[in-house]
Amino acid sequence: MLIKYNEPLSAYTTFRIGGAARTLLFPENRAELIDVLRAYPQAPVLGKGSNVLAPDVGIPGEVVCTLLCCGIARDCETLTADCGAALAALANFAAESGLSGLEFAAGIPGSLGGAIRMNAGAYGGEMSQVVTSVEVYGRSTGAVVRYADSDFGYRHSRYAASDEVILSAVLTLKPGNPGEIRQKQKEYNLRRREKQPLEYPSAGSSFKRPQGYYAAELIDKAGCKGMQVGGAQVSEKHAGFIVNLGGAASSDVEALMKLVAEQVRGQFGVELEPEVVSW
Ligand SMILES: Cc1cc2nc3c(=O)[nH]c(=O)nc-3n(C[C@H](O)[C@H](O)[C@H](O)COP(=O)(O)OP(=O)(O)OC[C@H]3O[C@@H](n4cnc5c(N)ncnc54)[C@H](O)[C@@H]3O)c2cc1C
Repeated sequence: MLIKYNEPLSAYTTFRIGGAARTLLFPENRAELIDVLRAYPQAPVLGKGSNVLAPDVGIPGEVVCTLLCCGIARDCETLTADCGAALAALANFAAESGLSGLEFAAGIPGSLGGAIRMNAGAYGGEMSQVVTSVEVYGRSTGAVVRYADSDFGYRHSRYAASDEVILSAVLTLKPGNPGEIRQKQKEYNLRRREKQPLEYPSAGSSFKRPQGYYAAELIDKAGCKGMQVGGAQVSEKHAGFIVNLGGAASSDVEALMKLVAEQVRGQFGVELEPEVVSW
């Protein structure tokens, strides 16, 4: 198994932030992943690092990265994939197989495990619409269990607040025209490039959508666009994103998120809940 020592987490997070993990382990299949979780039950699990704010001081222990545990298999209209499979790879695999339902996910830079944990979604689609069962490893029980019901909600699943690690999942899709599927993916990706500050490192939307509002609109109206703490800035292009202008520390991002939430609370009485997971 690939093991790296004193490896900067900034190289594995889309924010490009985070100190070194003492030991970064890369299991290459489901069995290795279970072995590693049994050996290090406390180790945090990292997918593609696109929704994590890793600490500047790093992690003084083991971190398990699922990136190499990424198999995808097809059986008629179902795909079975390991947790580390990239959503983009899954969406491409589905398109090539003439299977529709994952177009929304083509531009989300996460892994299957990370996406299921937070029920990732975009453009009217979300993981809950395609995931039919999830196989998990319970850290406290040491048991492998399969769930048909993941208790999905808006950017929520049963795994968000549990000690369970997602190992693999079955997705059920619908037959579709490969050309039309690709076209839809292109349109969504174009919309992303137009609206999102993809030229800077970020972790996507910093806050969840509060009920009845759009976080980005509230942040913009509260006058926070362009607000900066150290190297972290509320994007000028899309107020929902906090971007790393270069050299941002995780403490800069945390301080900026706190400031933004205070401004929005003060002006609109709305509580913003972070979407980014702070380790
Ligand atoms: C430019 C950009 C655009 C984005 N657009 C969207 C969007 O449109 N919609 C959207 O929903 N999100 C979006 N995101 C956020 C992010 O891509 C998603 O939340 C994604 O699903 C996170 O997956 P990940 O593998 O990167 O998770 P990570 O960041 O690696 O981890 C996130 C959390 O999940 C946990 N986790 C990871 N793998 C597992 C596992 N196997 N089992 C249990 N827990 C696990 C981690 O411990 C961590 O707590 C965007 C991010 C960026 C940078």
